Amino acid sequence: MIISMKPGASKQEIDHVCERLQELGYKSHPIVGTERTVIGGIGSGGNKEAVMESIAAAPGVESVVPISQPFKFVSKESKPGKTEIKLGKHGLGGKEFIIFAGPCSVESEEQVIETAIAVKKAGAQILRGGAFKPRTSPYDFQGLEEVGLKLLANAREKTGMAVCTEVMSTEDVSMVAEYSDILQIGARNMQNFNLLKRVGKTNRPVMLKRGLSSTIKEFLLSAEYIVTSGNPDVFLCERGIRTFETYTRNTLDISAVPVLQELTHLPVIVDPSHATGKRSLIPSMCKASIAAGADGLMVEVHPNPEKAFSDGPQSLRLPDFAKLMQDLQPYLNLWKSERGG
Ligand code: PEP
Ligand code: MN
Repeated sequence: MIISMKPGASKQEIDHVCERLQELGYKSHPIVGTERTVIGGIGSGGNKEAVMESIAAAPGVESVVPISQPFKFVSKESKPGKTEIKLGKHGLGGKEFIIFAGPCSVESEEQVIETAIAVKKAGAQILRGGAFKPRTSPYDFQGLEEVGLKLLANAREKTGMAVCTEVMSTEDVSMVAEYSDILQIGARNMQNFNLLKRVGKTNRPVMLKRGLSSTIKEFLLSAEYIVTSGNPDVFLCERGIRTFETYTRNTLDISAVPVLQELTHLPVIVDPSHATGKRSLIPSMCKASIAAGADGLMVEVHPNPEKAFSDGPQSLRLPDFAKLMQDLQPYLNLWKSERGG
């Protein structure tokens, strides 16, 4: 169950609810927000209805809502509407469709700026680019690290675009949060629980990518880690999962989009680049994602994919991206009319 305390409820009232929960055989998980405190009551002891009634009668309690899902705060049951997350001057999860675009890796000042200017002109809202790269082989390019973060911050200054970049380790979180507007948790770190808790302590929106072999339940429980650590601004990125198929880099689980929209109030975006690994498949998978009800897309774009330090074969050239944005317009118009925009 989720217990919402009244705005301005006192510490004694909050502590009293936590104590009552414990007495009734439940674990309490308070999250202190700016406006109000909400308390997760986790357990299954006793007569649930009687427990809820008893808690609802405690001083300072505004409402008690039962949550049947294992992921409590991110579940739709806890919040019927959608969460809208402010990303720079844009809002993800509402009436605006958000496109993240940019290179797989930040490589040089010219490469980032040229890409940023081109993707912005074509209509993308957020610049992506990796400064810390989780590579399968230790011999592959590992990223420019802080130098790369500086190049991204410089691109933000020049274009006004908010930037999104991956953070791979707890010790880098403060530094990455200093330069980047959005923190990305990569697929390989989806269950790095210490990292999830650490980004949950920041005030930056977090993009959580689905793990290579993770179920939707595991994905949502990972999001729950971030939210219960204090950061409500989490959005999910479906980026393909491992299956027996090898023609594509991964298998884009397009049904994950409506499933997630059914289960959670968090925004959902799709990354067709890592899902397919092939440039030629990006446009159709973008269209499918929009039709499936995604809130946004993340697409890798590079001025010269043949020379890219990573993921060249799946990166769109700058003119390809501009054409893609034009081709998506009718789909985006339909999407907007469905969202009432
Ligand atoms: C990325 O987006 O840069 C990336 C490494 O993706 P993933 O974590 O989904 O493999
Ligand atoms: Mn990549």
